[in-house]
Amino acid sequence: MTTTRFAPSPTGYIHVGNLRTALMNYLIARKASGTFILRIDDTDPERSKEEYVDAIKRDLEWLGLHWDRVERQSDRLDRYAAAADTLRDIGRFYEAFETPTELDLKRKKQLNMGKPPVYDRAALALSEAAREALRAERGQGVWRFKLDQARIEWDDGILGNISIDAASVSDPVLIRQDGQVLYTIASVVDDTDMGVTHVVRGSDHVTNTATQIQIIEALGGSVPSFAHHSLLTGPQGEALSKRLGTLALRDLRERGVQPMALLSLMARLGSSDPVELRTDMAELIDGFDIGHFGSAPTKFDEADLFPLTGRYLQYLPLDAVRAEIDALGVPADMAEPFWTVMRDNIETLHDLDAWWALCRDGADPVIDDEDREFVAEAMGLLPEGPFAADTWSTWTGAVKAATGRKGRGLFMPLRKAVTGQAHGPDMAALMPLLQVVKARA
Ligand code: GLU
Repeated sequence: MTTTRFAPSPTGYIHVGNLRTALMNYLIARKASGTFILRIDDTDPERSKEEYVDAIKRDLEWLGLHWDRVERQSDRLDRYAAAADTLRDIGRFYEAFETPTELDLKRKKQLNMGKPPVYDRAALALSEAAREALRAERGQGVWRFKLDQARIEWDDGILGNISIDAASVSDPVLIRQDGQVLYTIASVVDDTDMGVTHVVRGSDHVTNTATQIQIIEALGGSVPSFAHHSLLTGPQGEALSKRLGTLALRDLRERGVQPMALLSLMARLGSSDPVELRTDMAELIDGFDIGHFGSAPTKFDEADLFPLTGRYLQYLPLDAVRAEIDALGVPADMAEPFWTVMRDNIETLHDLDAWWALCRDGADPVIDDEDREFVAEAMGLLPEGPFAADTWSTWTGAVKAATGRKGRGLFMPLRKAVTGQAHGPDMAALMPLLQVVKARA
């Protein structure tokens, strides 16, 4: 039974980088008819906030990434304590008393000598009496997992064969001085207890994975399949980390990005499969293959989300957007023609605001100097409203007969005078929606 999890820490809003992780885990579970767990990694009571838990759920619901159940690490502290006891019993856990400043000094010395800054395991050599003395002086220490200094290897679902020398990695701290259990062990205990079979996460976790594999083995669990996706960069390859705050899912939602547009992009970006708009989650699931993703950094351009959103909207029937259209104040009998005309001319639903304002109030005319007389004459021929489906052809026919203009020279100045812009909906379809033509005045 395939089981995956998305394990955000509720210390902020989730962004496109987190979405990549969530989506890959979701798609793997759904493709295998397995289980997708939303795991809230809230072992840090100071930074974890309920408000973020709610926001994460809302974002995932908005996207349709439904989870089968929620687990919270804060409910499972006894499990982590039991695992810590096991590690102590088997001699793989030791207390260390260095202060952060001391550790920093050690690291600097090692770097100066051209050595990797790996914890020197000084605490392992302490006698029981020395430990007691330090405890009396400094209080509780931190608890480190004693790595077995061998090579740690796994076949990564994205990165291929990975081999890390455990001697080049510091024994990880699993319990802080204040007793707080850290993610590294909590995650391992959860993955084992919950039968997680596949873990997909960012490549910033590769070293974690190495240590976690040893912890899982020490605790007698079975090691899941790991895959580490590349980090997202901006369109020029620049680091996105500082900008991720502005790429929160809630902000994209507010800017009018549609879920399927976002999912269509993120489910394929960085893979050998083309990004194509999908209107249905089942298609995204069917075509997903983690093995198609590459290890190179993945360029993400938020601008790509808008044309995809625009194309998605073209598929939507009026029912799907009725609430938004009613909220604009479009009269009920105009809702259908308004949507039918406008859905091909917008990138997001927010663009409807301006189109409706144009229909309701008219647009400030744009008239080139050489067209002034022509437009004035044409306005004299414009029939009284309300306009109908044949208004445009009747009107332009009359203008053509009166002025001799035809083709683009006839239509473009009229479009610009009526709508204030050179592009937009088919004029014949637009005319019946126009309540006011300012150029007429
Ligand atoms: N809470 C961790 C994070 O957000 C989870 C990492 C993992 O998937 O194990 O980085």
